[in-house]
Amino acid sequence: MAGHWKEGATAWRTTPRPRGWKAIRAEVLARDDHLCTWIDDGQRCTTEGTDVDHVGDPEDHSPNNLRTLCTYHHRKRTALQARAARGELPSRQRPTPQHPGLITPSPTTTQRPAGARGVQAGGGSGAREALERGREQAARYRDEPGY
Ligand SMILES: [Zn+2]
Repeated sequence: MAGHWKEGATAWRTTPRPRGWKAIRAEVLARDDHLCTWIDDGQRCTTEGTDVDHVGDPEDHSPNNLRTLCTYHHRKRTALQARAARGELPSRQRPTPQHPGLITPSPTTTQRPAGARGVQAGGGSGAREALERGREQAARYRDEPGY
C-alpha cells in the first residue's frame, strides 16, 4: 500500500486525506465561522466557506496550516497550484503577453506613406509629371516680374 501515492509535481493533488479528516475539516470550518478567509488586495472574501485548503505543506493537516475557502477561491487556488506544479509561475507569465509582438509589425507597415507606393506601382509617370508641373509653376511664380 505504501508507495501507492506518487511523489512529485502532482503530489498536491494525490495527497490522501488523513484519518479523521472530517473532524479536522469541521474544526477548521468552525474556527473560521464557515466563512472564506481568502484575502485579495487587503479585501477579505466573506462568502460562505465550504472547502478547507492547505495553506502550505499539503501533508500538514494541523489546523494552523488549514483555512476555510469558498468554492470559487478554492478553485482559483487549485488552479494556481496546478500551474505552479507545472513550473509555470504566474508572476512571470503575466509580463509577457502577446501585445509587443502584435503592436510592432502593424504600425511599421501602415506608417509607410501610401502615396509613395502608389507612384511607383501604378502609372507612375502621370504622377511624376504632375509633380514636375507643380515645380515649374512654383518656379514661375518666383521668377514672375512684379511679384
Ligand atoms: Zn472566497
